[in-house]
Amino acid sequence: MVPTVEYIQARFDEFNGLYFNGALPSLPIKLSNARTFLGKLCYKKQRKWLFGPYNYSDFVLRINMRLDMSEELLDDTILHEMIHYYIAVNQWRDTRTHGQLFRREMKRINETGGRHISISYRPNAEQMAQLRVRRRPI
Ligand SMILES: [Zn+2]
Repeated sequence: MVPTVEYIQARFDEFNGLYFNGALPSLPIKLSNARTFLGKLCYKKQRKWLFGPYNYSDFVLRINMRLDMSEELLDDTILHEMIHYYIAVNQWRDTRTHGQLFRREMKRINETGGRHISISYRPNAEQMAQLRVRRRPI
């Protein structure tokens, strides 16, 4: 299926209630035509003072519309980005991009929701032909 903003928004609201206790503030959702990712959370990363901790703001959720994803892959992609968002809005510091915190949240949602979120999505051959380059997830 090719995603629409309305579909992603509905899923975001549903998953927010199901897996994040409604803790995620709404954010702009945009469709992307990029060749390099299925989903991506964009944000501003700023320090208030030199060597101070980073503060994350101005979040935008981007979902690829170039690929005809299965509903499950699309939903898992949305959830993957929501985990990044959850970590960022809590201002948690993960050990790396998909570090211990990310893996803990991914495991929790996969187990409670019977989902198959993964760290890295490798598009299948057909998707690969559509994308031409392998997705490099953030
Ligand atoms: Zn990621």
